[in-house]
Parts: sequence; structure tokens; C-alpha cells
Amino acid sequence: MRELLLVRFGEIFLKGLNRPYFLRELVKRIRHAVKDVGGQVWLHDGRIFVSDFTDQEECIRRVTKVFGVHSVCPAIEMPKDDFDAIAAQAVKMMEGLNGTFKVDARRSDKKYPMSSPEINMELGGRILDARPDLKVVMKNPQHMLNIEIREMCYLYVRVVMAVGGMPVGTNGRATLLLSGGIDSPVAGWMIAKRGVQINAVHFHSYPYTSDRAKEKVLTLAKILSESCCGIRVHIVPFTHIQMEIHDKCPDEYTTLIMRRYMMRIAERVAQQEDCQALITGESIGQVASQTMQALGTTDSVVSMPVFRPLIGFDKSEIIDIANKIGTFETSSLPYEDCCTVFTPRHPATHPKMEKILWGEERLDSEALIQEAMDGIEVVTV
Ligand code: ATP
Ligand code: MG
Repeated sequence: MRELLLVRFGEIFLKGLNRPYFLRELVKRIRHAVKDVGGQVWLHDGRIFVSDFTDQEECIRRVTKVFGVHSVCPAIEMPKDDFDAIAAQAVKMMEGLNGTFKVDARRSDKKYPMSSPEINMELGGRILDARPDLKVVMKNPQHMLNIEIREMCYLYVRVVMAVGGMPVGTNGRATLLLSGGIDSPVAGWMIAKRGVQINAVHFHSYPYTSDRAKEKVLTLAKILSESCCGIRVHIVPFTHIQMEIHDKCPDEYTTLIMRRYMMRIAERVAQQEDCQALITGESIGQVASQTMQALGTTDSVVSMPVFRPLIGFDKSEIIDIANKIGTFETSSLPYEDCCTVFTPRHPATHPKMEKILWGEERLDSEALIQEAMDGIEVVTV
């Protein structure tokens, strides 16, 4: 008899012929997640198992963060031929639980001498003999004792819900524009959840933005990497571009022009990193640079698709997700971002393209972009 985790996966079920590929990728991701807690991970009989961990709760916490995992069940594995031992274990697993319960048996071993309804009846009866305070109900029981008869017998009561989604890397690659704010980490998380491997670009305006601001972004990337399997963060020196824009472009257009340079540089990084899309944390109307017209002017400088998964979300909804994924606290630290350093007093909300182009013509764009590209520092978290 031993303790292990039974890992249930969600949408991979829908995959037809590609299912073995998705499962193999999921196993790799789970292995990566639990390697520090000594977990052994294997695929057998259409199920993923984790065993030999040094710390069960930490192992569960890590596996539930892996995209593609639907839920994790801490289970007991034991031989299936000694029904008395199984019943004793079932009684033990109900210790400390009160109220109503139901036994739910499943057999993949169709030669097993008892049918699933027989197992339900017999185990339910044995539990009630030992625990007359409990009550069996068929509808909405407080506790479900699951028993699976495969090559071995598996018993579990607790089901810990996981993040869902698809295994990272099974749906291409994208580059996230990661600021130190609340929105962009959430945007990256949402796209990665669909199986996209992400890397990040962060624009840093030293000395106007501090080293602490940079560290904050790396901390955010590290939190994301628990689900996203390692993230390469490209730190782009952005001070010179910002100063040039500030000096030479119309004041109410500086934010928009700056955002256009961010997109151009992010696209070049994305091409180098073999990515197919960009991701930002924008949402319609949240700030002046996120009106529909403004978003149009930033989109038009790149040819890659730009994913904005938060486009229809309210700030409070974004904060709920940030709390769930554990980035909110770090995002709320009060360090400056390069967007806030040279904010115009009256940013254009209905920008005119001629004015943007007039401003940009006064800059040596190619040289500025190349200088920024040459100064990139890459940190893998
Ligand atoms: P966030 O919480 O993402 O900072 P925000 O409401 O502060 O959002 P803006 O500052 O207008 O929004 O930025 C919009 C988007 O531009 C961000 O979601 C992010 O994708 C990108 N962005 C902003 N600043 C930076 C930066 N310094 N480095 C990289 N990307 C950035
Ligand atoms: Mg921001």
C-alpha cells in the first residue's frame, strides 16, 4: 500500500489522434513542476500518477498549477484482491469526516469478481457499520469515496481542483509585454493557459525606473513560471527612446508613440524567439492609450497578431484573477513603470495618425530600435 497522487486532465480528453502527444507533454510539465519535491511521474492506463514525493501538500500545490491538469486526487494504492483490507482502508479514509457520503466505484478491470454497484453497496455498508453517524445519500453527498479498480485498487476522497487549460508548448509561442502592473501578468497567464509557451519583454528606463522595479518584474515572471515552465525575460533599455520622444514629439502623443516603439521592439524580439504573436494587458478604455482609436494606432506598427485577453474585463475582474494566480501582491508594490515616468498632462484619446507620423519622422527610428535591441539583457526565471 502506498500514497500517491492521481492526476486528472481536462480538455486533453477532447483530443483524438493527438491525445498521446498532449499527454506526453503534460507528463513532462508535471515532472518539471515536482522535481524539487522528489516526485516520480508516470503515465499508465490513461492516467497520470505521481509518487515518492517528500512533501505531499507542496507536491499537490505544484501539480495543481500545471496547465492541462483538471484536478489532483491524493489516493491510496493497494492490491485489489483483499476486499476486507480495502473496506478497512475506506473506513479509515472517512475518519474525521461527518455528514453525508456516497461510494462511487469504477472498474477498468472487467474481470473483477464484483460489479461497480456491488462494490458501492458493500463498501457503503461496511463504512456505515463502522460509522453509524454517517448517512448515505445519492444526490449531492458532502463526501464522495471514489474507488477505482484497475491493475491495482485506488481509493480517494479529496479532490483538489487545478488550473485547467492545455499543456504549455502544445499551442505555439508568444511574447508578452510585461510591465510591473496588475494587468500584464494576468494577460500572460491567460494565454499560457491555452498551451502557449510565453516569453517576456520588459522596457526599463534606468535611472528613471529603479532596479527594484526591474526586480519586481522578474519576481512576477517567476510566479508565472510556476505554471508557464520557465520564462525568458528580455529587459530592454528604453531611456534613450523615451528621452527622444519627450524632446521631439508633440506632448499629448508621447505615450502613444512610446507604445508604438514598444510594439515594434517586442515584435523583433518575438521574431528572434520564434513566436507567432504578441500579448498585452490592455482593456478597452482603461486609460487614454487604450481607447479603441489608440489601440488601432499601436496595432498598425506590427504585423503579428496582438492578443489582448483582458480586452473586455473590468479592473476588479482582473484583480480577482491576479489574486487567484498569486501576482496581485507583487504587482501592487509601488515602484515606478516607464509608462508613468513621462506621462503627458493631456494624452490624446482620439489620436490623429498624421500627428503621430509627424512626431516619429523627427526620430531616427531604426538607430534607436537597434540600440535598444543591442542593449537587451536576457534573464531566464
Ligand atoms: P499593467 O498592469 O499591465 O501595467 P496598465 O493598466 O498599467 O497595465 P499601461 O501602462 O497602459 O497599462 O500598459 C498597457 C500594456 O502595455 C501593459 O499591459 C503591458 O502589456 C504593456 N506595457 C506597459 N509598460 C510596459 C513595460 N514597462 N514593459 C513591457 N510592457 C509594458
Ligand atoms: Mg502599466
